Amino acid sequence: MKDLLRGRAAFEGVGAVSKVGAVSKVAKRFVKAIVLFGSPGSGKGTQAKLLTECLGIPHVSTGEMLRDGVRQGRGVTPKTAAKMHAGVLVKDAVVEAMVEERLSRPDAACGFVLDGYPRTLVQVEHLIGWLDQRGIREVVIHLAVDYNIIIARLTGRRECPRCGTPYNVVLRPPKVDELCDLDGEKLVRRDDDREDVIRARLDAYEQQTRPVLEYLLSHGRRVIEVDGSDDSPEAVFQKIGRAMEN
Ligand SMILES: [Zn+2]
Repeated sequence: MKDLLRGRAAFEGVGAVSKVGAVSKVAKRFVKAIVLFGSPGSGKGTQAKLLTECLGIPHVSTGEMLRDGVRQGRGVTPKTAAKMHAGVLVKDAVVEAMVEERLSRPDAACGFVLDGYPRTLVQVEHLIGWLDQRGIREVVIHLAVDYNIIIARLTGRRECPRCGTPYNVVLRPPKVDELCDLDGEKLVRRDDDREDVIRARLDAYEQQTRPVLEYLLSHGRRVIEVDGSDDSPEAVFQKIGRAMEN
């Protein structure tokens, strides 16, 4: 026990992690599974990374698993992965089997952060059954960000076609308007950062996620809504910590 406390104190002494010791303590004591919801552009990926680093548990992302599956030729077709990326639903049974296999591995025994799953009522029902059977308590975090802010963030993204350096005209502008700092190349916007494409993805997310969150709430599961509109990921992370503590 002493070693555990010493290890944790040392761990919390590192950079941003020290500010969020509360997340670590609370989560380690009560929660084994964190289910993270957040629309495209909500900063969910960054929060998932901070949570997994802070708690020392794996990040289980269905999007990444599908992409890995394609790369390693493990029965996932590029078509399936592309559908998933576009927000189109992949067959429940395919995703359920993939997630359960991942959650059954030894590194997930102390907990995990689930990202991109569950997306349908069938999946959420299945997951709740799976967790309850194993006595695993979950906490659901819904990272809510105003859609106008998301659209401004995503439509501001640019990249250099020559060296690939990413920019954001709102958050991380180049020194000279629309030109790469490194090689002066004219920056470009990717097709999927166009406003109509972003709106379609946000609509798809809303339609998929709303019923899943309502299902969780109506079944008395713990859902925490955190406002993620803040520019700084650390500030949002601290909000998550405080919300989990209450
Ligand atoms: Zn460049």
